[in-house]
Amino acid sequence: MTPKDVLAMAKENDIKVVDIRYMDFIGTWQHFSVPVSELTEASFEDGFGFDGSSMRAWQNIDNSDMIVIPEAGTAKIDPFFKVPTMVVLGNIHDPITSEGYSRDPRGIAKRTEAYIKSTGIGDTIFVGPEPEFFIFSNIRYASDPHASFFEIDSPEAHWNTSDGSEPNLGYKIKPKHGYFPLPPADNYQDMRTEMMLTLQDLGIDMECQHHEVASAGQSEIDLRFDSLLNMGDKLAWFKYVLRNVAAKYGHCVTFMPKPLYGDNGTGMHTHMSFWKDGEPTFAGNKYAGMSDNALWAIGGIMKHCKALCAITNPTTNSYKRLVPGFEAPIKLAYSSRNRSAAIRLPMYSGSPKAKRLEFRTPDPSANGYMAFSAIAMAMLDGIQNKIDPGDPMDKNIYDLPVEELAAIPSAPGCLEEALEALKTDHDFLLKGDVFTKDVIEHWIEYKMENEVKPVISRPHPHEFYLYFDI
Ligand code: GLN
Ligand code: MG
Ligand code: MG
Ligand code: MG
Repeated sequence: MTPKDVLAMAKENDIKVVDIRYMDFIGTWQHFSVPVSELTEASFEDGFGFDGSSMRAWQNIDNSDMIVIPEAGTAKIDPFFKVPTMVVLGNIHDPITSEGYSRDPRGIAKRTEAYIKSTGIGDTIFVGPEPEFFIFSNIRYASDPHASFFEIDSPEAHWNTSDGSEPNLGYKIKPKHGYFPLPPADNYQDMRTEMMLTLQDLGIDMECQHHEVASAGQSEIDLRFDSLLNMGDKLAWFKYVLRNVAAKYGHCVTFMPKPLYGDNGTGMHTHMSFWKDGEPTFAGNKYAGMSDNALWAIGGIMKHCKALCAITNPTTNSYKRLVPGFEAPIKLAYSSRNRSAAIRLPMYSGSPKAKRLEFRTPDPSANGYMAFSAIAMAMLDGIQNKIDPGDPMDKNIYDLPVEELAAIPSAPGCLEEALEALKTDHDFLLKGDVFTKDVIEHWIEYKMENEVKPVISRPHPHEFYLYFDI
């Protein structure tokens, strides 16, 4: 789509407003709108100015001007606004040099794709995420950072009908039994279908929707694989559509990795493979029908996994999910069938085209552009250095004897440990100027100061249970 096509599309659809969206450093979409008359062919060169110092983790106040330049190929009609609105995604640039801004996540994804091509290892990386999420009907938490309280649905809220009628207590999903009973136990069929079809109508190919293992409305909707940058864009649309469809039903959706103690957390298993000249490069005659490149890519992920987690599992809450017993991977092992390993090579991907690895550690609190890029860079590093992933682990890791378990490296235990790992292990991310030193340093500092320290220094609700009468 050229700028001319976008303007024609606006005319054909009687568009009144153009909503410019971009991804902030942390991974949340931001937007502002202009009347359609403000969007001209020149806008796709000159962009629109905004105050970069008001965005989390971007510019300083003394150097705050930035521009966002809309990218023609990304235009879509918004499905929610009353006034006909077209959405165009933008890239962030410096207004003086007009160079791409290093901390723009979309820019990181673009540089990753360019770097992959430059290595000759592949010309395309396909990414297929399986984002999970919880649907809640009642949740209240403090928006004042000095107060700390939250109330979350009682499980009964999910056995209820959403129209306020008497709860149906006969059919209920018990903890860890959500995969997959039918309605009336599963209360969210229509809502999930509307989410899936709204995305499909936006031109985002979807694969399936289902209730997930946890009791309280945990769900999954799967996107069909696409190339890395496109998938970053699609994941942003995904979160936006899910939140807004849920809001129509008077509910809300959270991608927080572990909202409920004692039940499954929320992951975003991510399937990845390199392609070259229209051919898959991961099929071969090694373990599970994979190629050398595929196994070395696994070696790369395993070698850099702790540092990767600082980007793929970037919240303090992420590490409450990575505990034994909830289908979340804790050990850095790979296997063709074992769901307790961090990397799985799906058995059903029989045809060479379907050969891929499934990295199960990431969760959807990640910024998609940055997470997919970081994983791709670790895979490339593995291939470039022929990193041997060691032997596969085909046993249930949760059941291994203690000594055997201790010999397998673990995912980080907390965000601080992941950030520490990233501090020393990030050269693989700097290649091709994909993640710059500034990005890495700023990410670590932002996460430590704004997330790790404030969480550690607050009294925890469970501390009252443990210590109030001590
Ligand atoms: N929710 C699990 C996780 O945290 C995955 C469950 C599944 O998809 N089988 O990764
Ligand atoms: Mg799945
Ligand atoms: Mg799942
Ligand atoms: Mg999976």
